[in-house]
Amino acid sequence: MTGPIRAVLFDKDGTLFDFAAVWTPAYRAAAQSYAAALGRPDLTDALLRAAGYDVARDRYIPGSVLISGDASEICAAFEAVTGRARPDLLAPTEAVMDHWSARPRAPVCDLDALFGDLKARGLALGIATMDSRAALAAILEDASWQRHLDFTCGYDSGHGTKPGPGMVAAFAAEIGEAPSTIAVIGDSPHDIAMARAAGAGLAIAVRTGPTPDSGLALADVILDDIAGALDWIAEFGDR
Ligand SMILES: [Mg+2]
Repeated sequence: MTGPIRAVLFDKDGTLFDFAAVWTPAYRAAAQSYAAALGRPDLTDALLRAAGYDVARDRYIPGSVLISGDASEICAAFEAVTGRARPDLLAPTEAVMDHWSARPRAPVCDLDALFGDLKARGLALGIATMDSRAALAAILEDASWQRHLDFTCGYDSGHGTKPGPGMVAAFAAEIGEAPSTIAVIGDSPHDIAMARAAGAGLAIAVRTGPTPDSGLALADVILDDIAGALDWIAEFGDR
């Protein structure tokens, strides 16, 4: 750990928004449309299970591609079920996921208030998501809290993907600070690994995603949700 903290980079799904509320309907729809395109609607549950969602238990499998992969990795998991490459189904599957994930949703807390408080402390704010740039833009479009953001990126923004260090490095370059001044907050092991790979100053995990505490053990701290992050960051930001 190092200080002082001058910026905070948030993951989006499972961090700003409850993971299952956003993604379970989106993944169900994507698997349904993929199975329908194969002419095998009966495969829907098998596709979901292969990608990391246990339909019977309504639970995500830790480390699976549905938790932290992108659309191409999810389609590769689908292909493993059928044993057939279908590159033509990537774009339509991604379109279904984008459509569903861009629907209005409630954040885990009042983001306008939280981001406003963090900005009032002089912190720069960013979002780094494994969702697409277009899907992120659709969510930000009508959000009052987007005015607080200094940086946003998706998996297709050209900064690489998690758990690589590129998204943190790009944020650091954008605000002219070292990665060691950035606190990364996320719900997945990939967020924590990204923070470590980039040399971020703090790696904060939250419990609003599908990963149990045992999968987040490499974080500096595990918080119930981002609302508790302000106190933590304030402590380290003052050092
Ligand atoms: Mg997440």
